[in-house]
Order: sequence, then C-alpha cells, then structure tokens
Amino acid sequence: MRLGKKTQGIKPSVTLALAAKAQVLRAEGVDLVNFTAGEPDFDTPQRIKDAAIEALKKGMTKYTDVRGIEPLRQAIAEKYKREYGLEYTKDEVLVSCGGKHALYNLVQALIDDGDEVVIPSPYWVSYSDIALLAGGVPKLVETKEANGFRITPAELEKALTPKTRMFILNSPSNPTGAAYDRGELDALSRVLERHDCLILSDDIYEKIVYDGFKFHQITALNPKLRDRTIITNAVSKTYAMTGWRIGYAVGPKEAVTAASKIQSQSTSNPTSIAQAAALEAIRGPQDEVPVMVGEFKKRRDAIVARLAAIPGIGCFKPQGAFYVFPNVRALFGKKHKDKPLATPADVVEYFLDSARVLAVPGEDFGSKENIRISYATSMQEIEKGCDRIAEAVRKLG
Ligand SMILES: *Cc1c(COP(=O)(O)O)cnc(C)c1O
Repeated sequence: MRLGKKTQGIKPSVTLALAAKAQVLRAEGVDLVNFTAGEPDFDTPQRIKDAAIEALKKGMTKYTDVRGIEPLRQAIAEKYKREYGLEYTKDEVLVSCGGKHALYNLVQALIDDGDEVVIPSPYWVSYSDIALLAGGVPKLVETKEANGFRITPAELEKALTPKTRMFILNSPSNPTGAAYDRGELDALSRVLERHDCLILSDDIYEKIVYDGFKFHQITALNPKLRDRTIITNAVSKTYAMTGWRIGYAVGPKEAVTAASKIQSQSTSNPTSIAQAAALEAIRGPQDEVPVMVGEFKKRRDAIVARLAAIPGIGCFKPQGAFYVFPNVRALFGKKHKDKPLATPADVVEYFLDSARVLAVPGEDFGSKENIRISYATSMQEIEKGCDRIAEAVRKLG
C-alpha cells in the first residue's frame, strides 16, 4: 500500500509502546517491575468523577463549542490570573483532547515547511515528531547533565537563529525532572527577548515540584514575551486524569483561534463530560494535589537514594515531575551474553532479561547515556525494582 509521506520518519510513541509491552508480559504471568509509566498511579479524585457523573445524568452528552465549554475556558483563564497574575480572556483559551493534542494543534497552526523548532535535549518524545508532522525541522540542543540538564542562556543564544520559528520549553521536564528556578528562567527570557521566535511553554508538570521549589511562568517573569508565548497544560498529570483526555492551550488570540480551526476540522470538541470533570478539577478544592505530590516526593527521595548507592549508576536528583534519569554509562563495556553493553537500550534489555525490571531507554529522549525510570508506582515496587537492578549490576561484575 502506498502510504502518505507524512507518516514517513515518524515514530509511534515509544513510551506508550513499552507500557503496552509491560502489560503483555504481566498478562503472561511475568513478575515484572514496570518503571515505564508516564502517568500517576493514583485514582482520579472522587469529586472529579462525581462531576462527570452529574454531567452525564444532566444530559451533557452533545457537541460543545469546538474550543471547549465557556465555564471551563473561563476557569482556565482565572487560574492563570490567580496563580501567576496573567491576564487572558476565555477567547485566548483552547481546550483540546489532552495536552499532547493542544500542542499538536498549535504546532500545526504555527509551523510551516522548513521552520526550525528549537528543543532542549533530553526532550519529551513527542516534540520532535509533532514538529516533523507539521513540516518543521526539529533542532535538538544538547544540555549537560552537569548543568542539571538545563539549557544555559549561552547555549540558547547559540541555538536561536533567524530560521528559528519556535522554542519549546518544558519545566519540570519529562524525562529528566529538571526545572528552571526564577533566576534561570529570567535569564532565558532575556535571551528570548532579543530573538523574534514563538515560545511554547509546556507546563504540564507545574504542580509536581519538590522541596519548596516554586514554579514560575516565563511570561509572568517577562511580560515582553506575552505576545509570542503559548502555554500548554492539561489536567492529566496534576489530577491523575490521563484517560480523560483534557488539555488546553493559553495564548494570544490569533494563535489560539488558528489552532481551534485545526481542531474544528479534526476532533471537534473534547468529550463533553470529561470537560465537566476538568472544570471541577480546576475550579474545585485543590487538597488532593499536595497529597499526591507529597507521596511522589517520598518516592523520589527513596529511588534517588537507592539508585545512587548502586556502583555504576549515577542519579541526578530532579526538582519535579515523576521520573529519574539515571546515567548508566559506567556499565558500558560490561558483558551480557558475551556482548558488551554499549547503549541505554542494551542496559534496558539487560535489566529486563536478568532482573525483570522495565525502564525506558534514553535514546528516545535524545540521550546516549541515560535511562528513564518512572516512580509513579508504589514504594514497594520501587524498592523491589531497585534491589533487582542492584543485583543485576552486581552480576555484571
Ligand atoms: C504527559 C505529557 C504531555 C501530555 O499529556 P496528555 O496526556 O496529552 O494530557 C505533554 N507533555 C509532557 C512533557 C508530558 O509528559
């Protein structure tokens, strides 16, 4: 069959594929420790489920405004005012089928053939493929582990050229958990001020931060960037709502309106009752969020301590999200089945074969030395998985 050119060179999401593999292994009865999860393991809070049930009972089962129901767009605009002092109207908000969809629509609406999209690396797997699907040219900028995987102002300055159409910022980051503090973000904003490019700020982990770290929105720090910055966000990670598929974009009206045109000719509105749930999530009491974050913090501390104690594994302590991105370079050259381990994928395969632990190889996030381990799983699994990894590393000698 002749397939469209668009799909050539596009990878399906690796993390979703690995999560599916884990499910198959488990179904076959393998006692697997699954560290691939890209979603919170908590249940969606009851008040949010109740809002969806109520909406269903009330017959909220029809098309809505393509951009999302007005009260939800209003609640999102108010959230930005309340939390960051940012002024947006409900017409500068687009509700989409998840944060990924919000990003996709925006990139489709704003990127033309040949436009460069600057992405600090390691990066979330979908950014480059979403840019490619729009005809864009992803330009990965390697960050240093010694700098906590954060792009420096000098590195950013060098990466931005007249060809740059968009810069993607993701703090806290998936896969590294790295986050920019106020000073760092302010310094980046001053570089961006001098370059006329769009800024896409993927703030999906804004609430999942530790040790008193304060999340800042770049346009709140530097209002000069407001007219060319679009924020994407979602209820998925903050409220344990990945399956509901509600995300959103907030930004200048032209950009949001262009993205909603794409949405109007593809998915139309996101699911009506999921929007009702998202409205409750954003507008209702926020008590569950710090409870979930507190639990994540305990797990982060445990997993960082345990991994760091394993000779041959270096573990950077992340400020946010629910991933660690340990460096496994010191294991390269050690032999498994008479073949030296040479890549993160080799190490992941070795851990799967010999320890029944599944992680995600760093290659897919732009790293040649790291693997991604998600700690969105129980403390018991974390301990079991780390013990198994320690044993597997010991066996390598
Ligand atoms: C999970 C995730 C998203 C998208 O989440 P949705 O499930 O589509 O809401 C976007 N960006 C990053 C960095 C993520 O980790």
